[in-house]
Amino acid sequence: MSDVKIALVTGASRGIGFVVASQLAEAGYNLAICGTTQATIDAAAEQIRSACGVEVLAKAVDVSDKDQMQGFVQETAKHFGRLDVLVNNAGITRDNLSMRMKSDEWNAVIDTNLSSVFHAMQAALKPMMRARSGRIINISSVVAGMGNPGQINYCASKGGVEAMTRSLAREIGSRGITVNAVAPGFIATDMTAGLGDDAHAKLTDQIPLGRLGQPADIAAAVVFLAGESAAYITGQVLHVNGGMYM
Ligand code: NAP
Repeated sequence: MSDVKIALVTGASRGIGFVVASQLAEAGYNLAICGTTQATIDAAAEQIRSACGVEVLAKAVDVSDKDQMQGFVQETAKHFGRLDVLVNNAGITRDNLSMRMKSDEWNAVIDTNLSSVFHAMQAALKPMMRARSGRIINISSVVAGMGNPGQINYCASKGGVEAMTRSLAREIGSRGITVNAVAPGFIATDMTAGLGDDAHAKLTDQIPLGRLGQPADIAAAVVFLAGESAAYITGQVLHVNGGMYM
């Protein structure tokens, strides 16, 4: 078994996940990354390989499909012979007012943002328990705590992620595995690119640090939680939001 640590990052083709994967590669991890299409995840992998020289296993995986999600975790552990860090980052929004929310909007968000995280963590437990060490880091959202009109499905999924984080942290702390979440505020990615100028200005007004966050702000928190200096932190939600919620 190689001494190089392995990190699996879901939803790493762009946005926060791509920068998380890139920063983990800079920190010396080999990677397993996934997105919804092979071409875009291959392009992300190639960019990371050429920048950092690390090994990257890249695969198109629909995280909302239990067999695909668990199969990718198992394939990663088999390919590298270990799994040190799992970052559950892939996520979507399907916004609508509660009165109008369709079942498919509810189900898509719960399956992609919540059930996928449970399935990935469940599959990661085997290699991590065998090694008696591991780091699980789940990407939540500031709206899990605040609520947000038009996002009842998304808020439920992220609230669920935070509750699962605490529950699993209690279950497996004795095995040397930590489970934490990072809750981003509003971060400049495709997910927030649709905000008009007005909404953008209103939002910025609510942020004491006076700007949207960057993916690198979130990635730095993930790399910290993955590292040795975070060994005594588990079951926590680390808020990275420029002070918009405190
Ligand atoms: P993004 O730019 O929209 O990127 C989403 C990523 O998830 C992409 O890599 C996408 O892959 C992948 N993905 C989506 N559905 C998937 C599926 N079914 N299977 C596999 N991969 C899938 O989003 P982001 O802003 O970086 O957000 C990343 C995480 O941070 C999400 O969990 C989000 O909820 C959370 N977050 C974001 C913000 C924000 O302001 N941006 C705030 C709080 C929390 P493709 O490229 O193939 O589509």
